[in-house]
Amino acid sequence: MKERMNMGSLHPDELISFIIKRIYQTGLTTTSGGNISIRDEHGDIWITPAATDKGNLQPSDIICIKSDGKIIGPHKPSSEYPFHKAIYKTRPDLTAIIHAHPPALVSFSIVRQIPDTKIIANTRKICGDVGYAEYEIPGSEALGMKIDEQFRKGFNAVIMENHGTVVSGTGLIDVYHRFEALEYCARTILLSKNLGDMRCLTDDQITAFENQTPELMPEMDSLSYSSNESEKRASICEIINRAFCQELMISAYGTVSMRLHDDNFLITPANVENWSLGTDDIVQIKSGKREPHKIPSKSSWLHQRIYRDNPGINSIIQTQSPNLMAFGVTNTKMNVRTIPESWIFLQDLPTISFDALSPATTTIPQSLSIDNPGLIISNDSVIFTGETALQAFDRLEIAELSAKSILMGACLGKMIPISDEEVSDLRKAFLKDTAKDPTPVPSPKREGRKGSEY
Ligand SMILES: [Zn+2]
Repeated sequence: MKERMNMGSLHPDELISFIIKRIYQTGLTTTSGGNISIRDEHGDIWITPAATDKGNLQPSDIICIKSDGKIIGPHKPSSEYPFHKAIYKTRPDLTAIIHAHPPALVSFSIVRQIPDTKIIANTRKICGDVGYAEYEIPGSEALGMKIDEQFRKGFNAVIMENHGTVVSGTGLIDVYHRFEALEYCARTILLSKNLGDMRCLTDDQITAFENQTPELMPEMDSLSYSSNESEKRASICEIINRAFCQELMISAYGTVSMRLHDDNFLITPANVENWSLGTDDIVQIKSGKREPHKIPSKSSWLHQRIYRDNPGINSIIQTQSPNLMAFGVTNTKMNVRTIPESWIFLQDLPTISFDALSPATTTIPQSLSIDNPGLIISNDSVIFTGETALQAFDRLEIAELSAKSILMGACLGKMIPISDEEVSDLRKAFLKDTAKDPTPVPSPKREGRKGSEY
């Protein structure tokens, strides 16, 4: 059994050292760069030290600056303490700050642009509008004033000109989610530039999406499960963990489910950070009822319909991996004829309309099948299915890496896909036992909105 990490019980110095290590390990800061702070309930500010290895900070390295200005700890506080102090003074509602130089957001900062978070409804919800602070020398009071101006306007995330980003909020975990989501938003936008014009959601679309969630399923009276189900719960945690390691999932978004039998299934919960998930957090859905005292993923209704309409699908993974989402935000259909593996395992990967997410439509469940295991939902997410969780995950990995190859190679020239004749040979060699002809037959239903193909 995997137990959830109890982040809420951590002392500020433990939480800061944990998060800065995580940021470093995921390539979002350098050994010397970045700083994190927490303001506790006494008004004391806990902050990372200056000039120390961010990949190896211990709780005992974290500095406490008391509300009377007294500094406690073995090092000097971060040289960027002045702007942390300025933000906390301006915004009594904020209790944590992350500053770093993550590569995609630095790309925006050095061309002096702001990423548009309306590319994905969920990103918009987490990050909001993004502010922009003009350049000033690092560590200066002047920089503090420029950043403070932006937080005073109500932004919780700010691009720092020719420098990086600063993100704030209530609770360090939420701030980390915002920081990570904003970097992935920037990554997706940069990658999408290889494909064409990006399409953002309108405010009306975002509001309608927020309001359309079907009612929460009723609770079941009591819970019981077998050892077989325990294994499935552990598998879901394992897949989630792998998705993080492979940069296929962010902390604040991503759902994995597995069928138990008939329409009953297990699914990841809402409002629990994916990377701290334990087997007891997974939610059982049986006969349309949810496990007592747990809130399943917001996408539960969609997973339920996919299982109901597709008896051959036993697992679903839904995420926002940046290379595939570049196709999703430009409404571009990805051609899976990149390499034999990609065609054999995917055969087709339609990009369907954001409007298909409405519970009033059946487009998504009907677009998926054993032979058409994945799809991209414009401005929302990607879905991959399989007979097993590992198969669904493998398909996601294959698709994301193929998308990455197309986008990385775009500077060399447009992809030359495997030809019809070569596909025919692949079919004979690898799919000859398949009773049903797996060749994707384009139909208006599966194509969704008309878009370009790359
Ligand atoms: Zn900096």
